[in-house]
Amino acid sequence: MTIVGGGIAGLACAWRASRAGLSVTLLERDELGRGASHVAAGMLAPVAEAEFGEAGRRLLELGMRSAALWPAFARELEQASGTGVDLLPTGTLVVARDDDEARELERQLAFRHSLGLPAERLRASAAREREPALAPTVRLAMEAPGDHCVDPRLVLAALRGACERAGVAIREHSPVAALELDGAGARVNGVRLAGGERIDAALVVLAAGAWSAQVEGLPAHARIAVRPVKGQILRLRDPSGPGLLRRVLRFQGGYLVPRGDGRYVLGATVEERGFELAPTAGAVYELLRDASELLPGIDELQIEELSVGLRPGTPDNTPAIGPGAVEGLVWATGHHRNGILLAPLTAELVVEALAGVPA
Ligand SMILES: Cc1cc2nc3c(=O)[nH]c(=O)nc-3n(C[C@H](O)[C@H](O)[C@H](O)COP(=O)(O)OP(=O)(O)OC[C@H]3O[C@@H](n4cnc5c(N)ncnc54)[C@H](O)[C@@H]3O)c2cc1C
Repeated sequence: MTIVGGGIAGLACAWRASRAGLSVTLLERDELGRGASHVAAGMLAPVAEAEFGEAGRRLLELGMRSAALWPAFARELEQASGTGVDLLPTGTLVVARDDDEARELERQLAFRHSLGLPAERLRASAAREREPALAPTVRLAMEAPGDHCVDPRLVLAALRGACERAGVAIREHSPVAALELDGAGARVNGVRLAGGERIDAALVVLAAGAWSAQVEGLPAHARIAVRPVKGQILRLRDPSGPGLLRRVLRFQGGYLVPRGDGRYVLGATVEERGFELAPTAGAVYELLRDASELLPGIDELQIEELSVGLRPGTPDNTPAIGPGAVEGLVWATGHHRNGILLAPLTAELVVEALAGVPA
């Protein structure tokens, strides 16, 4: 079988499929793990991310299932690769800065409680007891104790190692131009690389992130519309070491993720700008302004990196995981803001789907 795309989705599927006994070739356009997965913050936060509406419900259900898989997934991955992935049980603190935000947070708390989700209402004083560096301007907080985080760059390195050890044939600098179908257009036969080379495959997993819709060859009814959603994100370091913040801190417009060693990730913008990747002064200004208002100590941190990534978004922003309209083709894309969280479940569902396809 062939997997198109070497981000967290493609790599996780490759590792799990290969462990399930399939012979796997992974085709990556550039280098493995340099797309959205490389810039992601690594929050595993289904409760904090929970949204109203039908699509929100579906995403929540997938997110809760995947969050439950993460501890065993991380352990097995660490064993298989010999690389740690820093899964940290941080919990998440969502804070409101003014009366309007506090009213909205009350609504969000009620919504989570109505679904039986673990979310605790905290008065400002209680929030500041838990995170003493918080500014006195905090009005109200919600703690989601089960929403943790992981370091996506370590996960990518570990997945690469685990894939190599499991015998996955990894081909970097191999852009796939098109899927090859049978004469009736009903079944996938393989893929064609941009250079013209054809690779036969009865099973193809499409995991090309924000570029998934650019792979040609599918009839109109079998395509899935995936668009890029730009995110700008900063990596910071506290020269005096860890301790400024222990939990993931979320606020309207952003979040700050502690890595546990004095490094922090401050993100992120959500912008509809096509495939544009330019970092902008306004985004950096707003992220730092909002975070500094809540956590003044952030002003002393050093800036290590500003990066930009493209989240793969479907029309309703829920992922496309599983078999599509063409036999032999399995989707693993459209993970939008939750591709790190959803990696273990994506791999599990894709391997299940592959087992169900007559090869
Ligand atoms: C700023 C930011 C912060 C985020 N924070 C979080 C977070 O905290 N938690 C969370 O769960 N998610 C987060 N996300 C979302 C997460 O990063 C994505 O959902 C996830 O990385 C998508 O993984 P992927 O493998 O589908 O895509 P990618 O990582 O983009 O990988 C796709 C790969 O496919 C390759 N490719 C594309 N076209 C082709 C082709 N034709 N042939 C071969 N290869 C091809 C690309 O080169 C790339 O390597 C964040 C995203 C951004 C941008």
